[in-house]
Amino acid sequence: MDLGISGKTALLCASSKGLGFASAKALAEAGVDLVLNARGAEALEAAGEQISKRYGVAVTTVTGDITTEAGRAAVLAAAENVDILVTNAGGPPPGKWTEWTRDDFIGALDANMLAPIAMMQALLPGMMARGWGRVVNITSQSVKGPIPGLGLSSSARTGLTGFVAVTARDIAHTGVVINNLLPGIHATDRAVALDLAMAKRENITVEESIRRRTAGIPVGRFGTPDEFGATCAFLCSQYSGYIVGQNILLDGGGINATF
Ligand code: NAP
Repeated sequence: MDLGISGKTALLCASSKGLGFASAKALAEAGVDLVLNARGAEALEAAGEQISKRYGVAVTTVTGDITTEAGRAAVLAAAENVDILVTNAGGPPPGKWTEWTRDDFIGALDANMLAPIAMMQALLPGMMARGWGRVVNITSQSVKGPIPGLGLSSSARTGLTGFVAVTARDIAHTGVVINNLLPGIHATDRAVALDLAMAKRENITVEESIRRRTAGIPVGRFGTPDEFGATCAFLCSQYSGYIVGQNILLDGGGINATF
């Protein structure tokens, strides 16, 4: 399927690994030139090289922490006129509601609510002026259904979801659409970290932790980054113009709800 976005440009925040990297690969396969970002230079350079070699698109890499003003300024300097924005950052650590301090909440809000909002505020006006744009925010299934230990994630990401619900409709007439992609468990470093955290919390082996986390997924497995990346690329395509302000779950059926 030709996604109709060859020659466009995309900025993917937090994209040297995992879901961000998989989304970058899928967009590159569709012929999109990329700006990639992460804090660690080594993995970022390797990711950029792998993509440019394999897909022949132009790739710019910018190291920096997307949750900080300075990191965002560096990224934005390289991505001023992009057509596509994929927001992403690391998820908050798991924990318990009794232990979280104000600083923990501020950290989660900075990373998973205010950083993506700041990126949209910076890049939406240009997309609107040019009459075309796509924004995909990588959030989490924790917005739709509670996950033990991930209250910080749910709190911050639900705030972002509220912002998107209003803003996506506010600007839809300009040719720019914003949607959220909600991953369930996908086989990335983040999933490994959560497997380890559960094993520690419950005093069980990592294998048992994976078995228990898989048991709640009707598909019977973790999602693959490639499945996620392809869905992200579709939401960035010429065909997604009528999908506005939606929260698209990729969870193998894990959230047990009719709607
Ligand atoms: P991952 O495999 O750990 O990859 C995270 C990527 O983001 C890396 O490239 C990392 O590189 C970069 N990154 C992290 N923090 C950053 C920051 N502050 N600034 C710039 N780059 C940053 O994680 P993932 O599984 O792809 O998860 C992506 C997002 O989806 C996270 O928010 C996660 O909570 C959420 N999510 C994931 C799952 C899952 O099962 N995988 C499920 C639900 C939600 P550096 O470390 O070098 O910066």
